[in-house]
Amino acid sequence: MSELSPQTRYPRRDTRQLKVGDVAVGGGAPISVQSMTTTKTADVEGTLQQIYALAGAGCDIVRCTCNEEEAAEGLAQIVPRSPIPIIADIHHQYRRALEAMEAGVQGLRLNPGNIRRPEHIKAVAAEARDRGLPIRIGVNGGSLDPSLYEKHGGLTAEAMVESALQEIAYFDEVGFTDIKISVKASNVALMIDAYRLLADTVDYPLHLGVTEAGPPPAGLVKATAGMATLLAEGIGDTIRYSLTADPVEEVRAGRWLLESLGLRERRGLDLIACPSCGRAEVDVIEVAGNAQKALDGMNIPIQVAVMGCVVNGPGEAREADLGIAAGRKRGHLFVKGEVVKVVPEPEMVDALVEWAQIIADGGVEEALRRKDDSAAAEAEADRALLLDEKGDDANNASEKIQNIRSLDAQTDPGA
Ligand code: SF4
Repeated sequence: MSELSPQTRYPRRDTRQLKVGDVAVGGGAPISVQSMTTTKTADVEGTLQQIYALAGAGCDIVRCTCNEEEAAEGLAQIVPRSPIPIIADIHHQYRRALEAMEAGVQGLRLNPGNIRRPEHIKAVAAEARDRGLPIRIGVNGGSLDPSLYEKHGGLTAEAMVESALQEIAYFDEVGFTDIKISVKASNVALMIDAYRLLADTVDYPLHLGVTEAGPPPAGLVKATAGMATLLAEGIGDTIRYSLTADPVEEVRAGRWLLESLGLRERRGLDLIACPSCGRAEVDVIEVAGNAQKALDGMNIPIQVAVMGCVVNGPGEAREADLGIAAGRKRGHLFVKGEVVKVVPEPEMVDALVEWAQIIADGGVEEALRRKDDSAAAEAEADRALLLDEKGDDANNASEKIQNIRSLDAQTDPGA
């Protein structure tokens, strides 16, 4: 199956490591994907249903709000039935943190802008220390301590990092070091600056996110712009997309981001498709959409290409595990760039499903072994006929280049 080589992966920043339940964060561990439930935590069955959906989509760690005593009681029933570790999100009342730990959660998130009394912060950290639980210091641009806002003349990267450092100092006083940190802002440039500064200042693992990114597609683009920039610099140990959408979408986006950067192994399908052009022999958008639908449920970790023409398609997508290119009302099915079968156009999607299963069961080698002997010759014949009919210069580039040169000669006084 196609994977990036180790040389093409981004080097990661060295950090300490902690454990959220059985999920390691930092210190070279795979970057984990997080999300947050949107149900009332007191609604045990509803919350568990959502957690199962998130885990099924590839979520590694899930956060649930613990905003009232009933939520903590709900957590006591949710934690033992959850397939993934649970972090309790604490905003204002430190008692909720103590209750959540008693409920059995695997970690906490504290917002330093909201819980400000040192004795409360230290009481929570001491309890987490005794229970061996990690805490995320979740600084949020929107709820920064007003004194820091004033000191730094507004919301700045320095103000956000100072907020995290103040919290770390309280934790230090009670000997608590199982820390990860986030400095999220809805402004992408500010968020990038804050994380870069933080990464230069501490060696704790970092949780990345663009807060309140909003609904997709704009929210997806904003969050990706911020997180991808940092990940490509080696910064970030766990991530969350904060989208105004079903949280399952957050998890899918997180997985795609990490997989596309080569930072996590491919877990599901990666469908690539050409953008289509005047050469296309088929409606690429429709075929790609149908292929996505048909292959999605199979959960096979392969890259599949849908290409609009047989002239350029198989060559352009030769790195894909499996692909199909259209030409002369037929589909050329290829595995790692090698044509293995030619099928009628209406059977293109079915053929992709059949051969995806062959690769899932026996690998690329098995698919190549099953190659139809006449496929390559048939494909070459189609390709040659199309080149004959349309030429290999779809944009008439050679003619255009000649025209440009003669125009140049006419306008150049020195010629
Ligand atoms: S594969 Fe063919 S149809 Fe698709 S963009 Fe390339 S040349 Fe155009």
